[in-house]
Amino acid sequence: MVKHKKDIRALTKEQLRDFFTSEGDQAFRGNQVYEWLWQKSAHSFDGMTNLSKQTREMLDKNFVINHIEVDQMQRSNDGTIKNAVKLHDGLIVESVLIPTETRTTACVSSQVGCSLDCKFCATARLKRMRNLNPDEIYDQVVSIDRQSRLYFDRPLSNIVFMGMGEPLMNYNNVLKAIEKITSKEGLGMSPKRITVSTSGVPKMIKKMADEAVKFNLAVSLHSAIDETRTSIMPFNATFPLHDLREALQYWYQKTKNRITYEYVVWQGINDTKKDVEALVKFCRFAPSKVNLIEYNPIDDGQFQQASDAAITMYQNILEENGITVTVRRSRGKDIDAACGQLANKS
Ligand code: SAH
Repeated sequence: MVKHKKDIRALTKEQLRDFFTSEGDQAFRGNQVYEWLWQKSAHSFDGMTNLSKQTREMLDKNFVINHIEVDQMQRSNDGTIKNAVKLHDGLIVESVLIPTETRTTACVSSQVGCSLDCKFCATARLKRMRNLNPDEIYDQVVSIDRQSRLYFDRPLSNIVFMGMGEPLMNYNNVLKAIEKITSKEGLGMSPKRITVSTSGVPKMIKKMADEAVKFNLAVSLHSAIDETRTSIMPFNATFPLHDLREALQYWYQKTKNRITYEYVVWQGINDTKKDVEALVKFCRFAPSKVNLIEYNPIDDGQFQQASDAAITMYQNILEENGITVTVRRSRGKDIDAACGQLANKS
């Protein structure tokens, strides 16, 4: 009978050390292997050159190293790179490298598909297939870091969890991945350069606050009026704005880390003065800033970006009320790599 081999990257360093002791070897081999797996992103035991051939064969008999494969890479006119990433079971997710003059940002996926059903998002049509494992999230970051060094001559500087999926519905794995990304034994990146973006799951926001996480929080708000928000983000019926507000206040109290609201203005949906006023009021609940993001059409005509006048109105009213607001242009639209366009067209 073929022995089922375990994915070695599911083991903690302690478990790896224990494994070696149980094999009659020394615990520190566990540290060596751990370093190969994470810091050096080894994809085979063969390449672990400081281990004896015998040890490498023994590992190969017991474990596999599951890893992602960049299946297809597309480059946009503006430098943005979109990767179709193949997982060990053949499923595909997408990750995006977004370059600016001074930064390279990785936009990574946390789930295959998504369990939420935001009406304006292409990923929502895929439904959720499964959660990504910590190593599958970590690997997306590693591959974008490599692309950044190769094409832009600098390391990756920032990470946003704004790819496919709802990170807070895959909370444990996202946190484990971030732990590896920020640890010296992984990529050693500062958590201040990481942003987790959520549609707003109150219970999980509170949990994050309790765990005193150091990364940034972005909330895809899009409307501060329940009725409107529920019509475009139906799960708002289950997690209404009042609960979200309470969770965000708790978040700020515990972390002292200001919140970013992601916000798209659509024609006929949230483009009136009443909508902005509701947003202003919502922003007062906890220190925050607003990113007005451009709508990226997902070819169904149901949603249209609001007029420039409406966006200027938002900007003016927010500024008059002392709220920081930025208007963000989309990147990578020509290759369907922009927010909300990730849907495995390939
Ligand atoms: N589920 C998480 C992260 C993925 S979505 C969240 O909701 O935050 C990443 C961002 O893209 C969110 O702010 C989302 O609201 C936005 N988005 C989704 N579809 C979009 C579209 N078609 N155009 C512009 N932004 C979109």
